[in-house]
Amino acid sequence: QCQALNKLPIPRYVRVNKLKMTVEDVVAAFAADGWVWQGSLSLVDFQSAVESLGQERFGLDPLLPDVLVFPPGTDLHDHPLTTAGNIVLQDRASCLPAHVLNPPQGTTVLDCCAAPGNKTSHAASLMANSGKILAYERDAQRMSLLRQQLRKTGVSNTTMVHQDFLSVDPHDAEFADVEYILVDPSCSGSGMMSRMDHVHKDSNDDAASLRLLKLQRFQISILKHALRFPAAQRVVYSTCSIHEQENEQVVNEVAEQVKENFQVKKIFPELSHRGKGSDDISKCCLRMSPKKDLTNGFFVACFERVDGEVEGAR
Ligand code: SAM
Repeated sequence: QCQALNKLPIPRYVRVNKLKMTVEDVVAAFAADGWVWQGSLSLVDFQSAVESLGQERFGLDPLLPDVLVFPPGTDLHDHPLTTAGNIVLQDRASCLPAHVLNPPQGTTVLDCCAAPGNKTSHAASLMANSGKILAYERDAQRMSLLRQQLRKTGVSNTTMVHQDFLSVDPHDAEFADVEYILVDPSCSGSGMMSRMDHVHKDSNDDAASLRLLKLQRFQISILKHALRFPAAQRVVYSTCSIHEQENEQVVNEVAEQVKENFQVKKIFPELSHRGKGSDDISKCCLRMSPKKDLTNGFFVACFERVDGEVEGAR
């Protein structure tokens, strides 16, 4: 059995790669290792549910049916299921976008900013390798991480494209079937627990403000580009930033520009942790935080076409 190594408050989240193993089989494998299965953890009192795991119990995430929750500090990096790609060590918040996108099997998905490929491989897992994913990445080194991750996780429905997503023509015939789009662009990363120490220190710094502004302009342009694909039905925008500039402000500005065709849909209405601000659009978005959700700081928004039927929205 792997040891709980330290007292980090964030649990160890494990995404089951359903391309290689079922949730039941992964649970059985950990039980055989000596871990005690708790079943589904409470959503209303998730924090107490995690505390009650102690050092030897694990459970199912109350929101995400393919995510297991282990005690904080559990080190599974060298676990055989991790090295074989049967499980992926992925933060609970970072597992939200693929579930919000919820692409039906057989459909075509576009991942605009794909490397290192956690969300691409998650979408492939939800689609059971059916249909098609087009995964764009502009950075050559990160392209190789994407390649490795998709190989390791047994993804076979994805075409990787080393290209700036902003340079593709949405009206090109090859995109005629693209209905589901993930937009997970570069961001400040200010929600990552490992970087949170710097957030307050840098927040008044001119260079930091300029950097945020540049990121915001980039995020707006990439989200708008994704919304130009003629068959797009659902477009999910996410960041691991806690800054409103990269989150609610981006979504509000873009939503205003595309309001004839898309609306921002309320996702996971059972969660009370909505976007910042009293406007209706922010209330539709999700903000995850270390304190309330025991995740990295994370933001998710979902645009849905208003003039077309959309299957399987969460
Ligand atoms: N979705 C990824 C995952 O879950 O593993 C993480 C994506 S990371 C936040 C953003 C990625 O987008 C980086 O690898 C970056 O190189 C890439 N990127 C940034 N701008 C891009 C563009 N214009 N076209 C394609 N990829 C881009």
